[in-house]
Amino acid sequence: MTPDEAAWDVLVIGAGPAGLLAAGRAAMLGARVLLLEKMEKSARKLRITGKGRANITNMRALEDCLKEIRPEPRFLRQAFQGFFNRDLIELLAAQGVATKVERGDRVFPASDLAWDVADALVAWARAQGVEILHHARVEGLIVQDGAFAGVEVARKAPAPHQAQHQAPPQRIRARCGILATGGRSYPATGSTGDGYRFAEATGHRVEPLRPSLVRLETRPVLEKAQGLTLRNVQLTLWIDGRKRAGEFGEVEFTARGLAGAAVLRLSRAVVEALAAGLEVALTLDLKPALDPAKLEARLLRDLEAHGGGPCGPLLRSLLPAPLVEVFCEALGLRPGSPAAQLQGAKRKALLALLKALRFEVTGHGGWEEAIVTAGGVSLKDIDPRTMASRKVGNLYFAGEVVDLDANTGGYNLQIAFSTGWLAGESAARQAASQVPPGLPRP
Ligand SMILES: Cc1cc2nc3c(=O)[nH]c(=O)nc-3n(C[C@H](O)[C@H](O)[C@H](O)COP(=O)(O)OP(=O)(O)OC[C@H]3O[C@@H](n4cnc5c(N)ncnc54)[C@H](O)[C@@H]3O)c2cc1C
Repeated sequence: MTPDEAAWDVLVIGAGPAGLLAAGRAAMLGARVLLLEKMEKSARKLRITGKGRANITNMRALEDCLKEIRPEPRFLRQAFQGFFNRDLIELLAAQGVATKVERGDRVFPASDLAWDVADALVAWARAQGVEILHHARVEGLIVQDGAFAGVEVARKAPAPHQAQHQAPPQRIRARCGILATGGRSYPATGSTGDGYRFAEATGHRVEPLRPSLVRLETRPVLEKAQGLTLRNVQLTLWIDGRKRAGEFGEVEFTARGLAGAAVLRLSRAVVEALAAGLEVALTLDLKPALDPAKLEARLLRDLEAHGGGPCGPLLRSLLPAPLVEVFCEALGLRPGSPAAQLQGAKRKALLALLKALRFEVTGHGGWEEAIVTAGGVSLKDIDPRTMASRKVGNLYFAGEVVDLDANTGGYNLQIAFSTGWLAGESAARQAASQVPPGLPRP
């Protein structure tokens, strides 16, 4: 083989869900595929998703799933049409992994073990003929005459009785490359954002990166309620004093502010607004099922019944215990103060607190704890029909490295699976079209 002859048809960088699907699909179509992963194991992040249970996809209709995706849901239509929730479930079933559907149409492995999904995808990719190289960190892309030609790889070779040592970088050539290096969040899993650097170095635009699906820091912090999780509450987002969005669901009080599903779902817009220097506030409606008039009527009834006693028990009938003291403080009362004091202005103030407990948002969690990365390789530089780069020939993108992210619910993994499948398919076809006449075609 001459140095210029490509050893591989398709080289996939990153063995996360996107890379595994890309590699497997390309190999399924006959391409010789090498998958390079810098960690000691494939799909480390996938193994911790969904609190170790992996919410792998969502059974809602395609158009409904698209609504959960930012910034450009339409970009994903072809990818979703080519490989979607049922295709994934079938692929896993064929590997012996049964799935189940839970509240909110979210799909999980029946075993509740994300590891089962990761191991099944690795086994499936290998069964298609993919060769996987671990401890192989790609350091840069090789681009020749405007087209992908290979990568520079640093291998971490285990040496007997010694710490692992770093071998000098090596060049691996291939007809096509797929960049599936993931985002920047949870860097301990291997997703350290290398792909953004490679994309930028080869002329692609990268939209600003921001942690998303992340806890928020607030003023005040309700220390006395720390650890409390409220279900079925309504959270409203205010940006520069204007109502911007609302989420119904779970809110958790933390040491520095708020977390929980409803908070995570609003976090994308919050982080963006904070980055733009805007004022961000959240209001929490603790009684969303009661409009203010009904809530006031209930309060008046309670006051009539228990007005002779202290206000603590009366508030306790409206609030979880950790919030009683918080509310007393806010109202300038003690739990032992007579409930009769909850009249007039104080009653109005209590009603206002119950319907709109206000928090200023002062910050958010960092990359170590964000579930996904918002921003990434610009959609303007990628063809949605193939996931091909518009800047570098024979180069494709898949997964979180692309400027696409979604709400909780299994959509982020489905983005990785669908874009991986499409990129793998496109790269295999492109590689096949490049085989000189007379040589066997992949
Ligand atoms: C705690 C947590 C829970 C989550 N839960 C869910 C959930 O339940 N449902 C859901 O839909 N989404 C969930 N997500 C999001 C989801 O895990 C990601 O969106 C998804 O893993 C992205 O897949 P990917 O293949 O693009 O990237 P990744 O999974 O990040 O994989 C990228 C791979 O590339 C490798 N790599 C990076 N750079 C290099 C390099 N230079 N050379 C070689 N290899 C490299 C990395 O080591 C990694 O293995 C969760 C995320 C987190 C952090």
